[in-house]
Amino acid sequence: MRSSDTDYVLAIENLTVSFDGFKAVDDLTLYIDQGELRVIIGPNGAGKTTVLDLISGKTSATSGSIRYNPYAQKKGRNIELTEMREHEIVRAGIGRKFQTPSIYESLTVFENLEISYPRGRTVLGSLTFQRSEEVMDRIHEVAEAIFLIEMLDSQAELLSHGQKQWLEIGMLLVQSPDLIMLDEPVAGMSAKERDATAELLREVSKEHSVLIIEHDMDFVAKIADQVTVLHLGQIIMEGTMEEIQNDSVVQEVYLGH
Ligand code: ADP
Ligand code: MG
Repeated sequence: MRSSDTDYVLAIENLTVSFDGFKAVDDLTLYIDQGELRVIIGPNGAGKTTVLDLISGKTSATSGSIRYNPYAQKKGRNIELTEMREHEIVRAGIGRKFQTPSIYESLTVFENLEISYPRGRTVLGSLTFQRSEEVMDRIHEVAEAIFLIEMLDSQAELLSHGQKQWLEIGMLLVQSPDLIMLDEPVAGMSAKERDATAELLREVSKEHSVLIIEHDMDFVAKIADQVTVLHLGQIIMEGTMEEIQNDSVVQEVYLGH
């Protein structure tokens, strides 16, 4: 039970998805507060990516609900996401980054950020869109945050793997979503890039709610306030990283894999 119905950005309640009888997510209840940076960890096959698929509307829930409260009052309150289409959920302010970067390799960093700017949110916007000062300011602000300000004119295919990951985070940031979801954002990154990403996501969480799925425990320890451990589609523990690392059930689940 919650003291208020609107202090969370996401209220996931009794969420289940069944694939041919197999429950990849099984009666999951999870609240994420406004402005929180939450990390979900868990062994392979735990259902982590499926949780993001359900929130983003890529997969339909078998039962349960996902209610969403954006920051801006005008967008409505307690929006039920399980009844919405993928593009409607994006438009409502939920941005997602997949495990493999999906940037436009032949375009420059600047162009990748520019095409991600939400000009198409209204029909009028798409017709009258111009490189306004507002757009330029936002692109520069984001490029600075993702450590690519010196590379705005470089072709995206020339970036390192880590820089491509940052660019994709930047493509989400220019859309100013209320909730940003990232699936294993430091996979394949160097130690230095992982540290920079931790710093970047800490910054991002000052202005957005953030939901991260991650395997790398050192990275999780650097960024997370609260960690949720998922196993076989269910939450087995929630707490600080220290509490989780000292928990015998969690240790068993990880050693068993
Ligand atoms: P994680 O991201 O924690 O490694 P996933 O969410 O990708 O785990 O997968 C959880 C389980 O659900 C796996 O056993 C996977 O094979 C299964 N699964 C995920 N998506 C589907 C689907 N669309 N159809 C059938 N099974 C699926
Ligand atoms: Mg996954």
